[in-house]
Formats: sequence, C-alpha cells, structure tokens
Amino acid sequence: MDRPFTFINSAMSADGKISTWQRKQVRISGAIDFDRVDQLRATSDAVMVGIGTVLADDPSLTVKSAQRKGERKAKGLDENPIRIVIDSQARTPLEADIFKKGEGQRIVVVSSSAHSNKVEALRKKAKVIISGDIRIDLPDAMQQLHRLGIRHLMVEGGATLNWAMLSSGLVDEIYTFVGNIIIGGQMAPTLVDGEGFTDTSTLPLELISAEKIEKGLFLKWKVLNFLK
Ligand code: NAP
Repeated sequence: MDRPFTFINSAMSADGKISTWQRKQVRISGAIDFDRVDQLRATSDAVMVGIGTVLADDPSLTVKSAQRKGERKAKGLDENPIRIVIDSQARTPLEADIFKKGEGQRIVVVSSSAHSNKVEALRKKAKVIISGDIRIDLPDAMQQLHRLGIRHLMVEGGATLNWAMLSSGLVDEIYTFVGNIIIGGQMAPTLVDGEGFTDTSTLPLELISAEKIEKGLFLKWKVLNFLK
C-alpha cells in the first residue's frame, strides 16, 4: 500500500501523560524541544491531528521560525506544511486557529456520514477528503494523502489518533520528549490510548536514539510493524 512515511511526535510527562485529566495543555518541554518540533514541522509535507486535539488545544500547527519559513518559500513551498484534521463528523470549528493562522493548505478528512451542511461550510476553509462511513478509514485516508503528493507526514496527536494510527500499522517512527514532571490521573490522556493491545499482541519498537535535552529525555523509536 502506498502511504506517506509517517512519524508521531509528542511531549509526555515522566508518567506518560500528554495532558491533564481535564484535557488542559501543560508545558512539558522547553525552548530547545519547541525548536526541535518546529524543525520537524518545517521539513514535513503535512502535519496531522485528531479533532479531539483541535477542540482541546486549538493549535495553529504553524512553523514559528522566520528563517525556516523563508527556507520553505525559497523552495517554492508555502510557509507551513499542509495541516490536516481527522474529523469524522466535520466538527472542526470554522474559527479554529488551524484555519486562521499562517498561510498554506488545510485538509479536513471527514466520513461519508458527516452532515452535508457542515462539510460544505468546511469546504470554504479547507480541502475536504471523504474516507470511511462512520469513522475515518485511516489506511484509505493515508492512500488518498499519498496520492495528493504527501510523502512525509508528522502526526501530532492526540492519544486516540495515535492509537488508531499505530494499531493500523500506519506509523514508521515515534519521537517523544519525556519531561521532568508527573501529571497523573486515570483519565489523563497518555501517549497512546484507544482500546489497547492484549498481552500477546503488543507493538514492538526499536530504540534509534536517546538524548538528554534540557531537563528531559528525547527518545526516537522505530516501529517494528507486524501489519506491514
Ligand atoms: P485526538 O486523538 O486528537 O482525536 C481523536 C478523535 O479523532 C476521535 O475522538 C474521533 O472523533 C476522531 N477520529 C476520526 N477517525 C478516527 C479513527 N479512525 N480512529 C480514531 N479516532 C478517529 O483526541 P484525544 O485522544 O482526546 O487527544 C486530545 C488530547 O491530547 C488533548 O488533551 C491534548 O491536549 C492532548 N495532546 C497532547 C499532545 C502532546 O504532545 N503533549 C499533542 C496532541 C494532543 P470523531 O469520531 O468525532 O471523528
């Protein structure tokens, strides 16, 4: 199956949480890690999030460094990578920062059961791709994104989308910054939520690198996909 090279990038606490139980963003990393994330965005064709992250954090997902934006422009690219939302029911708010901030293309992936009025409204803000009946058919969506020329895809969460992508065998690498805080909370999202694997079907990884950055640890993992 033709799909983009795909990596997940996330910041998590020492106990593996990516936000609080109230789904409020917490500052987990510092300036050096923010810059690392900016570099990854600037060198990706597209950056993707789930609708849960858009509703919780309202991220703009833009490249922040003027130099990197300039380098993209010099290559004939938009300042920002294509920003993609996985959103079965077309719930992305029309006033979301992802639409308001920064130049560049936006794609919202919706299912065929999304309300047509909402889909038409989104079409004024973004290219809309239809995939799946109730929820997004992620393998199909990845093929559609590949057909649009997306070869290098950065997934920026959240926990539910990370699970869906990993359990569908659609992720090549995982990059995590592990910060020096504990967030705790049974209901707080972790790096990967969803239904979870069983004791006989866990997903193996291979450590590519581990580097101390500021007061935390940056880990790069290769996913040894059993589904390929
Ligand atoms: P999410 O993973 O961003 O989005 C999940 C939603 O995607 C689902 O509820 C579903 O909503 C939609 N979806 C569509 N098709 C799907 C499919 N095939 N499989 C799974 N989901 C599909 O939301 P989340 O799990 O609530 O995570 C949000 C939390 O993560 C927030 O608290 C945010 O702060 C945190 N976060 C942290 C970081 C970090 O690096 N620390 C990064 C990002 C997010 P529909 O059914 O309505 O489509």
